[in-house]
Formats: sequence, structure tokens, C-alpha cells
Amino acid sequence: MNKRILVTGGSGMVGKSLKKIMPDATYLSSSDFDLTKEFDVVKMYTSYKPDVVIHLAAKVGGIIDNINKPSEYFVDNIMMNTLLVDYAYKFKVSRFIGALSTCIYPDKTDLYPMTEDTLHIGPPTPTNFSYGYAKRCLAVHIDACNKQYGTKYQYLTPCNLYGEYDKFGENSHFVAALIKKIHEAKIAGEDKITLFGTGTPLRQFMHSSDLARVIKMCLDEDVCDSFNVATEQNISINDIAKIALKSCEAEHMKIEYDSTKPDGQFRKDVSVGKLKSIFPNFKTIDLCNGIKDVYKKRFI
Ligand code: NAP
Repeated sequence: MNKRILVTGGSGMVGKSLKKIMPDATYLSSSDFDLTKEFDVVKMYTSYKPDVVIHLAAKVGGIIDNINKPSEYFVDNIMMNTLLVDYAYKFKVSRFIGALSTCIYPDKTDLYPMTEDTLHIGPPTPTNFSYGYAKRCLAVHIDACNKQYGTKYQYLTPCNLYGEYDKFGENSHFVAALIKKIHEAKIAGEDKITLFGTGTPLRQFMHSSDLARVIKMCLDEDVCDSFNVATEQNISINDIAKIALKSCEAEHMKIEYDSTKPDGQFRKDVSVGKLKSIFPNFKTIDLCNGIKDVYKKRFI
């Protein structure tokens, strides 16, 4: 019997990447159900009776929006996640995969890259403190559910993502904003781009289709562990900007920094040891090729 697979956040970047490789699942957006509301969550489970839930829906945003609306980030995420997991158990969902984020790991730690067991050793970075705690509670809830009820629920913790289905307007993620900035500078005939902060923070960036492949492999190979999903490369914002300039054929441009704007967390690199032990043959898309592909698909 085919499993009924339901994907929340199906209209988002990761949801759209997943749809390309798992077209038979049902993909939902906020216009189908507002998952911060108990009535809608119950209606969703009653209507679809899923065997598997891939929970990607979240209130996600950049540093400035997180700083300006900390209460909204907390309430929306904690409500959505708590209701989704609680009713998954009540509706006898057999597999549940939730998405966390490496930005919820401790702001600073003694040991990098951070392993899965250090998630709660220290508070998240102040710039997304409330988002970080709300997301951490998804991990606490899933672990508690497995302990109390013996469920096979799991969470994956992806690093920063980019991809062709990213938002390229307001409140976009770093790589999407960077590609757009380079494209606009090229069109305007400018010879430089200006980025927020100092360019020194370190980041792991992965294509959203890599995360989608890991989600599918977990279902295909019945892997229920919770683990980080990231690239081994941890590189500075300045180096990522140089790679993006090359990928967008704009190597001649200079990079300037507006250090009056915040940098965000200095580093948050996570270990991919567990990912590699579970899927030893898994390879991520190279950043230069990944950005080149996004640029071609969205801007040329
Ligand atoms: P995204 O593009 O921002 O999409 C968010 C999705 O959540 C959309 O489908 C949105 O629906 C849905 N949503 C938001 N509020 C909702 C609500 N109240 N009720 C129902 N649905 C709601 O996110 P993404 O980048 O694909 O991220 C997917 C998951 O990965 C998230 O859990 C995120 O925290 C995690 N993650 C993302 C990154 C990253 O860099 N993007 C990194 C690490 C982890 P509408 O389209 O209708 O608004």
C-alpha cells in the first residue's frame, strides 16, 4: 500500500525542491491551513489522514525581521510545531520529519563543528533568540514523544540554504539577496556591491535540493535518527561573495562592507559526522555550481 505523505510548508523553498523528487506527496501552504491554529491542524489531519508528515512550515526570516518581531517568531513557530507533533501522535502518524536549523545551536561553544548532542549547551544567538528557542522545543517535543510513546519521529537540522525557489524580494536569505544584488549591479553597470556587516562570519551553505534528497533517503531507507544536514565547507561571507561573483560572471566587481549593520552569529558550523555515517555516499552540490545554476534559472 502506498503511504500517504503530507508536506507542510510545501510552497516554500525546501517544499518545492522536495516536490521535484517526491511528486506524489501532498504539498500544503498557509492558504490551505493556518498551522498556528489548533482548529486548522485538526482539520488537516482529519482531511488527509497521513501516514507520514514532513513538517517544513515555519515562520522564517532574516536577522532584521527576527530582531523587530521576536514575539511573532516565537509564537508562530512554537504553536505550529507543538500542534503538528501532538496531533501527529493522536492521529497515529507513523513517521514524522521536522526541520530545525543550525542557527538555533548555542551562540558560542568551545568545540566546533558542533555535534548534535550540544544543541542545548548554551543559549541561541541574541539576533534570533526567540526563533531559536521555539525551534529547539520541536527537538525536545519529538524526543519526548519517542521516549514516552515509542514513535519513530525525527528532526533534521539543516545549515543555511539557498536554491532556485528562494525568495528574491524583501526578507530574503543571504545567498538569494547576494545573487540579486550582483545581478542588479551588473545591469546598472556598477563596479561594486555593498554587503551588511564585516564579511568575516563563517557559514555553511547548502542547496535546498540536497536537503530534499536527505529527507527522501530517510524515508526510502527507513532512517529515523535525528542529525545535522550540512556541507563540510565552512567559509567566510567574504569568500562566499567572491564565489557568487564568479558564478554570476561578475568577478571584476569589488566587495564593500557596511559595518554599521549587524553581522549575526560569528560561526555556527555543525558536524556532518552523523550524516556521513548514515549516508556515506551522499555528496552535496558544490557552492559555485549551485549558485551558477540558481543565477541562470532565476535571472537569465
Ligand atoms: P520558506 O521558503 O520560508 O517557506 C515557509 C513555508 O512555511 C511556506 O510554505 C509557508 O506557506 C509555510 N508557512 C508559514 N507560516 C505558516 C502557517 N502559519 N501555516 C501554514 N504554513 C505556514 O521556508 P524554507 O526555506 O523552505 O524552510 C523549510 C524549513 O527548513 C523551515 O522549517 C526552516 O526553518 C528550515 N530551515 C531553512 C533554512 C533556510 O536557509 N531557508 C535553513 C535551515 C532550516 P506560504 O507559502 O503560504 O507562506
